[in-house]
Amino acid sequence: MEKICVAVRVRPSVSSESFNGAYWNVEDNRISLHRLHGTPISGLSYTFDHVFDESSTNARVYELLTKDIIHAAVDGFNGTAFAYGQTSSGKTFTMNGSETDAGIINRAVKDVFAKIQMISDREFLIRVSYMEIYNEEINDLFSVENQKLQIHESLERGIFVSGLREEIVNNAEQVLKLIELGEVNRHFGETNMNVRSSRSHTIFRMVIESKGKDTNSSGDSSSVDAIRVSVLNLVDLAGSERIAKTGADGVRLKEGKHINKSLMVLGNVINKLSEGAKQRGHIPYRDSKLTRILQPALGGNAKTSIICTIAPEEVHIEETKGTLQFASRAKRITNCAQVNEILTDAALLKRQKLEIEDLRKKLQGSHAEVLEQEILKLRNDMLKYELEREKLATELEEERKSHKERDQCIREQQMKIDNLSNLVSFSDLDRNSNQGQGSARQSLKEECSESSVHQGDAFSTPCFKADPKAFVVKRSNYSTLPDYSPLPDTFSNVADEDTWQKMNKGYMADLDSLQMTPARKVQSFPSNDITPACSNDNFKKEVQQLKRQLEIATEDKNELERKHAEQIMLNHQLMDEISELQQEAKLIQEIPQRLSESVGNCKDVYEDILSIVQSFVSDGESSTAKLLSSTSEIGKSLFTTLETHFSMAMDDRSSSTGNNFLIQEQCKVLYEKLNSTITSLVSSETPSSENEEARAQLCSCGNKGCTQGGETACWKEELSNELNTIKERYYGLEKELDHNNQLLVVSKERYDSLEREFRLLKEDRDLLHQMVSDSSQKLSLVTDQKENVLKDLNTEVQRRKNLEEEIKQFSVAFASRQRSLASFHSDIKSNCEKLRTQCLVSLPKSRGC
Ligand code: ADP
Ligand code: MG
Repeated sequence: MEKICVAVRVRPSVSSESFNGAYWNVEDNRISLHRLHGTPISGLSYTFDHVFDESSTNARVYELLTKDIIHAAVDGFNGTAFAYGQTSSGKTFTMNGSETDAGIINRAVKDVFAKIQMISDREFLIRVSYMEIYNEEINDLFSVENQKLQIHESLERGIFVSGLREEIVNNAEQVLKLIELGEVNRHFGETNMNVRSSRSHTIFRMVIESKGKDTNSSGDSSSVDAIRVSVLNLVDLAGSERIAKTGADGVRLKEGKHINKSLMVLGNVINKLSEGAKQRGHIPYRDSKLTRILQPALGGNAKTSIICTIAPEEVHIEETKGTLQFASRAKRITNCAQVNEILTDAALLKRQKLEIEDLRKKLQGSHAEVLEQEILKLRNDMLKYELEREKLATELEEERKSHKERDQCIREQQMKIDNLSNLVSFSDLDRNSNQGQGSARQSLKEECSESSVHQGDAFSTPCFKADPKAFVVKRSNYSTLPDYSPLPDTFSNVADEDTWQKMNKGYMADLDSLQMTPARKVQSFPSNDITPACSNDNFKKEVQQLKRQLEIATEDKNELERKHAEQIMLNHQLMDEISELQQEAKLIQEIPQRLSESVGNCKDVYEDILSIVQSFVSDGESSTAKLLSSTSEIGKSLFTTLETHFSMAMDDRSSSTGNNFLIQEQCKVLYEKLNSTITSLVSSETPSSENEEARAQLCSCGNKGCTQGGETACWKEELSNELNTIKERYYGLEKELDHNNQLLVVSKERYDSLEREFRLLKEDRDLLHQMVSDSSQKLSLVTDQKENVLKDLNTEVQRRKNLEEEIKQFSVAFASRQRSLASFHSDIKSNCEKLRTQCLVSLPKSRGC
């Protein structure tokens, strides 16, 4: 028992965007989701046999993951390597490779042939095939005409795809060329290549057969007779994103069944297999073609590796989680691989004989008893084998018998069908020759009336026809029919072949003509199957079946229409939501604009206040004036920075952090400058009379009786209050801006995800549209067929009626003819009697004479 080897490969990132929230971190054979700051998120760390980071090459993946399986396949073990992951995560890149870095298939093919070259004591025969499973249909990629192939199972071959082209190959180049050809077929198969390629699975298969070379004359020839057969599957699976969604919320379960049933069943099979052997229960291999083909590779006789490819981008986190969960479950599966040797009976016996010989030799040594027992055991084994073989042979014989019976049954059925179709064609014939028959019937009627007219003169019927043999045959056919009244017993006593001909000479022509009617043909059928009622029953059944099909198709159509309506409703809802979000986004985008306007207003107010205050300060040299001018400069520059900040925010919402820092810096400088100026004012300067006045006016307390120190303090307090208010407003604005930015980012994300969802839904809707139109086409086809069949049935029923009518007429004619024959017979009898009596009377007379 060995576990499936599971590895994860991270594809290089294709987006230039840096991570905002989380990223996948690879360390040795562990992969985990980390927050932006580097701390791992709990519960999202996985360990596998190998984890390949973005820089790893196909060569490395092959070396560590697949090489051993390929080598084991050459030695007779089944092997499978498959790539699983969402679309565009690198499955095909891993399996098929690129121009510069050959993929696993390419490397495996070359490696197989290289290994074979090194094995000198065995002969190899290699066959390759390449197939695709698309919408649960198996198509041959080596041969475009081999489509919709079926899977079969036999004792000798195990599970196999019948009709799949297998090419015998001798070197790697030949195989690679064939694969290229297969790829071309794959792309030519469908017009919408992308959809197809992401939803189809491809399986490249190598069957490696080998046999020991018969080099030594004395040695073990049983190993020469044994043939090793191993199958190597290299699988590129369809994109798993849908199944991941299905697994996550179950909403698309039904849709998933149609789109990629195989992948869903593969998930189920892996789930089941990953449960312990006891809880496992039934494994649904037969639910999909993919799992059926890969059955030996999943929990069976094969060495298996799975490479799960993931995309590192943040948008794919959910899909990646799904893939990693799949990989974790797959890791728990155990397989039991063994060399597949096919031994002929002769080889088996030879091998056992050799073993016995070997043991005999050992027997001469010390462990005689043990070895004796071993020999006995071996003999028993041999007997068992023999018995088993006999049992198998009997079973085979029985199987053959039942096969023969089945064949016989099929032949009979076929005969009945042929007869039925003959009936139909003869009915046609009958219709065509209706005119002729009409005249025949007419002549029959005439004959009948004629016969009644000539009853008394039976031996001189004018239209005698000599055709005895044909008639005898016809008569014997006729006499077996149960539908016709039997001839009287007494009649057979007297009517020898000649008399019969003579008696019927008046009816020969009619019977000839009647022989050509379909009623005669019907008589040769097995009686229980050819009655019109039976045929009608068949037709009825057929019509009922068609009706049922029609009902199912109509139901399907209704279901699809309902789904379509639901999708349309959902679409409308989404459209509404999207337009609401768009409006919201518009409003949010306008916020910087409005903020910039209010900053402009604030700036105006600030400049007004400054100019008023400056008008009070007449002395430009005084410290108050200096304070004012420096405050005004800083204030202006603060407002200008705010304005540029907002205008930049309007242009590009993401790069505002640098500006925030600049504004904070400027605010700090303004605050410090104000503080230092106020302190220097308080400590050093003596106020002049004008200043006093100005200060008095500036002082908001408006108390003219304030002392100098008290005024200054008041003034200082006033200024610092104002500063605080400006600061608070600024912080408020900043917070608002941050909040708005966050809102903007969130709604952008929501908008993007909705858009993505919308696109998906649109795709789905198109698909449903397609399905609806397909089923409507099918429906109309079925309806047409039904109408045709009904028409056919009606004509057939009509034909039957005609035929029955004719048969009736014929029976009536026949009965009347019988009656006339009987009376004719009695006439002859009475005549004979009369003649006899006359003879008897005349004889004695003559004697008397
Ligand atoms: P899938 O088969 O899973 O849908 P592909 O194999 O087609 O995805 O990969 C999608 C794209 O990413 C291709 O252009 C491929 O060349 C590229 N790619 C995938 N994996 C790698 C890798 N490991 N190194 C370089 N390019 C890669
Ligand atoms: Mg692909």
